[in-house]
Amino acid sequence: MIINIIGGGPAGMYFAILMKKADAAHHINIYERNGPDDTFGWGVVFSGQTLSNLRAADEESHADITRDFEAWDNVDVVHRDRKISIHGNSFSGIARIRLLKILQQRCEDLGIEIKFRNEVNDIEALKDDCELLVGADGLNSVVRQTFRADFQPNLSTRPNKYIWYGARQLFHGLTLTFRETAAGVFAAHSYRFDQTTSTFIVECDPDTWANAGFGNLTDEETRAQLAEVFKPDLNGYPLLSNNSKWINFVLVKNARWYHENVVLLGDALHTAHFSIGSGTKLAMEDAIALRQSFDQRSNVTEALQRYEKARKPVIEEYQAAAHESMLWFENARDHMHLVPIELAYSLMTRSGRVDDAELRKRDPDFMSSYESIK
Ligand SMILES: Cc1cc2nc3c(=O)[nH]c(=O)nc-3n(C[C@H](O)[C@H](O)[C@H](O)COP(=O)(O)OP(=O)(O)OC[C@H]3O[C@@H](n4cnc5c(N)ncnc54)[C@H](O)[C@@H]3O)c2cc1C
Repeated sequence: MIINIIGGGPAGMYFAILMKKADAAHHINIYERNGPDDTFGWGVVFSGQTLSNLRAADEESHADITRDFEAWDNVDVVHRDRKISIHGNSFSGIARIRLLKILQQRCEDLGIEIKFRNEVNDIEALKDDCELLVGADGLNSVVRQTFRADFQPNLSTRPNKYIWYGARQLFHGLTLTFRETAAGVFAAHSYRFDQTTSTFIVECDPDTWANAGFGNLTDEETRAQLAEVFKPDLNGYPLLSNNSKWINFVLVKNARWYHENVVLLGDALHTAHFSIGSGTKLAMEDAIALRQSFDQRSNVTEALQRYEKARKPVIEEYQAAAHESMLWFENARDHMHLVPIELAYSLMTRSGRVDDAELRKRDPDFMSSYESIK
């Protein structure tokens, strides 16, 4: 089969790897507008379950990913200068650039050509040129836009502002830090992803953002101001920018997932708020699901139907949980009256996916402490 993939991010490369492994005769082209070393963002997070899925799908790349990752089992919640740790959670982090390099190398080893610095604008021409066209071209997908009448996308921009930084302070665990200031409440989502660096995402509501005057500040001034807000947490280290900008989270959904021989994967297809796990995990699990839909020898339409039928309910459930989590952060100021352990409990149960029994299983000491103050 001739497969054209637009986008050499985690979704596009991982799908190419899995298809080529399944049948070396496939002719696969990946078109990527950036160069091999251009990237944004800092670390990406995987749960223990995702790592098992990656191992089952491709042992070679799984081995490379787990060789380089940082693993932890604690979620730390910092509120009113007190840190509450909840154990029994299995997560790991890896630098996004390292993950991309591993996948690029794996593509090369399997003989998949990635056409770097190749921005695709004429989607129709590429569609006619192949049996399967994959739109793995991220949040602002041109493929989704080209066939919008068929995919029927729904995009909604959320009110909170967030900005994706790095920091040399190492946060050993997924750390959620709250700081109340005269301007309003700031939340930081941070975790270490290699020996020297942590991801440090700052989120706040639009009023806090306006009160703090971020609309008029330069990159340097913004980092300095946020470093001051999180001074007790950053241990004197500055915040590191990587073309970091304030953005609003955009929730992406599509009524239909394929049209003729065109299919969407990853951020092009759906987003889930970053507070519940990374888009990278969903993008790679989409690739696994799409590859599996080609398992039985059948035509492309049947395979794409199977993909949508099997994967859509999984994504809808995930997006529903992510939605609850996103609303919690959008209303963070309403939770600030809670004492630290109550806030930690509220955070752990915010998405509806973890109940008391599950929390007790993960960390009985935490649950005992929480129940003792109720
Ligand atoms: C500013 C920012 C920072 C982020 N940082 C992180 C992070 O640190 N950790 C994390 O887990 N998630 C991060 N995310 C989210 C994460 O990037 C995505 O959820 C994840 O990468 C989805 O993978 P994907 O392959 O679907 O899309 P992407 O990774 O976005 O890959 C899409 C690829 O398609 C290419 N492309 C797009 N259009 C075209 C075209 N017309 N022609 C050719 N190529 C094209 C793009 O260059 C890109 O390489 C960040 C998102 C943003 C906006």
